Amino acid sequence: MEQKDLIFLFIFVLLCFVLLLVVMTIMRNPFQFPYMTIYIDISGKRNVKAEDYIDRYLINNKFDFIKLHEEKIKKWKKDCNYTIRSSMLEEYRQKQYNKILDEGKTYQFIFQRLQTRYYQRNYTKTAYKIMNEDKMFCCSYDYLLDRYRKLSMIELACPLSEYESKNQRKLMTKELRRQIMIRDDYTCQICGKYMPDEVGLQIDHIIPVSKGGKTIPSNLQTLCSKCNGKKANKL
Ligand SMILES: [Zn+2]
Repeated sequence: MEQKDLIFLFIFVLLCFVLLLVVMTIMRNPFQFPYMTIYIDISGKRNVKAEDYIDRYLINNKFDFIKLHEEKIKKWKKDCNYTIRSSMLEEYRQKQYNKILDEGKTYQFIFQRLQTRYYQRNYTKTAYKIMNEDKMFCCSYDYLLDRYRKLSMIELACPLSEYESKNQRKLMTKELRRQIMIRDDYTCQICGKYMPDEVGLQIDHIIPVSKGGKTIPSNLQTLCSKCNGKKANKL
């Protein structure tokens, strides 16, 4: 072979390669589904129920972020549709688009734990922390919307599983007692006695637990022990 032929062969191979690259670029899927990733720290927690943490996330006013993301997805869909309609490969693009749609798993909650690791250098051990993925929970917008509606019906008071819990008395925490006393200004809600030292005050379930009353702020009130006793006798 002469040198000239070699050069031609080289150019030919190069052109083929470039052509292949161009074809691959055109054929590859241009769409990417916009997932939302939410990280939740569960360091030191045991028996983690994903649903409870998602409820708490929603209770803490984070549903706005979800709604915002849902708007983003709507806009993304519009843009995709435009891309598909204006493409010469309309049918092919439509198939590619359908393939990556994944609305059932749009919201990805990643549960992480902070873990201590060590590294050794010159005989000294140094601790450092890393975030480790523990588990993942994926769901759709409808799932979150449904949970948020149910939570709203109970005034975003607590996770749904707690609300449905058979053991409502167990949900009475020190923190909740304090919260109710502050709300009621350390005043008995029947006789109006003001007792800032908290000693004679009790937290009462307005609808008793035995009659299906829940341990949520709207069903709790501050009473002095006298009034609470009278109420108990009446019932
Ligand atoms: Zn009283």
